[in-house]
Amino acid sequence: MSARQAARVAVLLPRPLSRTFDYRVDRPVPAGTYVSVPFGKRIEAGVVWGSATGEVPESQLRNVLGVSDLPPMTPRLRELLGWVASYAMAPLGSVLKMAIPVADALMPARAATGYRLAELRPEGARLTPARQRVLAVLAGAGSAVAGSEIQRDARVSAATVQRMHRAGFLALEPLAAATLSGASHAGAGPDLSAAQRHAAETIVQRVQARDSRPVLLGGVTGSGKTEVYFEAVAACLASGRQVLVLLPEIALGPQWLARFEARFGTAPARWHSAVPGGERRRTWRGVAAGTVPVVVGARSALFLPFPSLGLIVVDEEHDASYKQEDGVIYNARDMAVVRAAKEGAAIALASATPSLETHVNALEGRYHALALPRRYGDAELPDIEAVDLREHRPEAGSWLSGPLVDAVASALERDEQALLFLNRRGYAPLTVCRTCGGRIGCTACSTWLVEHRRNGVLACHHCGHRIPVPEVCPTCGVADSLTACGPGVERIEAEVRRRFPAVDPAVMTSDTMRGPADVAQLVRSMEAGATRILIGTQMAAKGHHFPRLTVVGVVDADLGLGGADLRAGERTYQLLTQVAGRAGRADLRGRVLMQTWEPEHPVMQAFLCGDGPGFLQMEAAARADARMPPFGRLVALVLTARDQSILERFGRALARVVPPQEGVEVFGPAPAPLGRIRGRYRARFLVRGPRDRRLQAYVRTWLGSVRVPAQVRIKVDVDPYSFL
Ligand code: ADP
Ligand code: ZN
Repeated sequence: MSARQAARVAVLLPRPLSRTFDYRVDRPVPAGTYVSVPFGKRIEAGVVWGSATGEVPESQLRNVLGVSDLPPMTPRLRELLGWVASYAMAPLGSVLKMAIPVADALMPARAATGYRLAELRPEGARLTPARQRVLAVLAGAGSAVAGSEIQRDARVSAATVQRMHRAGFLALEPLAAATLSGASHAGAGPDLSAAQRHAAETIVQRVQARDSRPVLLGGVTGSGKTEVYFEAVAACLASGRQVLVLLPEIALGPQWLARFEARFGTAPARWHSAVPGGERRRTWRGVAAGTVPVVVGARSALFLPFPSLGLIVVDEEHDASYKQEDGVIYNARDMAVVRAAKEGAAIALASATPSLETHVNALEGRYHALALPRRYGDAELPDIEAVDLREHRPEAGSWLSGPLVDAVASALERDEQALLFLNRRGYAPLTVCRTCGGRIGCTACSTWLVEHRRNGVLACHHCGHRIPVPEVCPTCGVADSLTACGPGVERIEAEVRRRFPAVDPAVMTSDTMRGPADVAQLVRSMEAGATRILIGTQMAAKGHHFPRLTVVGVVDADLGLGGADLRAGERTYQLLTQVAGRAGRADLRGRVLMQTWEPEHPVMQAFLCGDGPGFLQMEAAARADARMPPFGRLVALVLTARDQSILERFGRALARVVPPQEGVEVFGPAPAPLGRIRGRYRARFLVRGPRDRRLQAYVRTWLGSVRVPAQVRIKVDVDPYSFL
């Protein structure tokens, strides 16, 4: 035996704890090393972290079971995790969990060969559902996939995979991490306009200088922001460093990937919730080993173990989906800025409708603002008009006004396409009894059930509870008395079928699109012109580029303005702009019709006049007045308990021990607008403080001064986006 020296190390585990545990390892390993260790009766993945606590006597010390072959987690990423834990007031181990989400990726793969799709699909062979699943798994993979992973991701047997190989569907190939060869990223982009070139050069320069001061890349939809940051991606790859592009999950569709591939010759690695396990494992390992050069992903990609990150792009930076609301509550856009600073990476935030936070950062010079003034080429911004529903009231049981119906009809006559946008899933948001007036609510939440006629159910959008659509009223027992109130997209679909019987509309929502394959198929159908009317929620509002789509109808432009949400106006403005941005993206002129009961509302006025800057200015003034973000800081506390009286008692107890501090105000406890979810009652506190002072220490002191009853849970939300 060699005389290697055993050592004691501290290991951080991906559990909701901040502390580390000591283990013995048979040779000294550097901090950041990925290891597997016994914990209780289980084996866990962890990371060597800080110095040993020395708590456990040598005789009881357990052994590290495995040391990963991957390079250790960099000090920069470890620092980031610590920073996020302290900012978000979350246990360090919970933050680590986001950074090692695929525990089995730490150790090397066994299989050396895998399968990819054959160049030609064999003719006449049967395509069973199982075989289709295999094809779908491989179609989404950038490189060969191990047989065991295909079995797991497609839920098929080994025999199915082997038979498909023999039948000629699949080809064998050595397994390799995805790489972009030197030649492929040399592919030149289009000739840029002067404004585009200036913007691209600025970001490229920051990549080269490792300058992580954020850049805001603004400009209307279609102005070429993507082309501009592609230049920076190319420059970063040329310098041999890795790139991370963050996108909201629903914008991360096949069109974006195809566009990237057309420019760079290879698809980037993808990272989001729908990516199958095998691909996640390969991507995570490839990123850690430095062999995956580009990742495009949703917010969770922020914690991937890049050893040499040169550029982060946060596209659609204003999008609320960057805020994670469960577990560790954090905003990936803000944390991306922190990661870039720690990595010495350049960072660009792109948006046609920047968030007020980013806008103010740019105004005050913390972010460098670049703006692309116009749509590229001959494409012009669409004409935007309000349809005043007080004048053009749709007939009973209809939701589309005369002017909107006419506009859609004339688009169809010109062989163009229309999009009808309504940000509401299902058939109807409310079911009411005509006899007793009763409404059907969720048994576990303080919400009304939403009818999904397609599936014949009433469903709760908060807990997933569903019941068959009842035939008699559950309250009064009268039959055939229940009526659907208000429209969801399914109801708009029914109206379109009634009005345009020759057209087969498509519906794009999270209910109808089960995964990327469904989206890809719908996108193809739009591109081929087979789908002529698209009806959708915000899923249809983002990112897509359909050259023949010329009419966009916003069924209910006022939706979203109600409620007491701090960002209601800002969000409505952003969403309307996104939707409008789908119209007339190529050489055909687009037209946007917004149905509204309140055309004089400031948000509608700003939108109608295309006055984004004016709107932001007005919002900024109002927020500054109210000392709301970004001119003040907020921390929300959400208390929940199954027992309402325990919740109320604890809320009062907490209110009694609010520590006095100059400039800090505490509001609450107040019953939350969503008073109950999944059987738990909810109450809220809101802490407001000055912008130049963090509130975390204050909140820690406050919460540290009470004993929290076992029945009560407290969620701390720093920089809250949701006020429900
Ligand atoms: P944005 O990201 O701002 O919405 P895109 O980068 O998607 O804009 O550009 C809109 C369309 O215009 C795309 O089809 C893009 O390829 C094209 N485009 C933008 N700039 C140029 C250019 N300089 N040369 C050729 N095509 C361009
Ligand atoms: Zn519910």
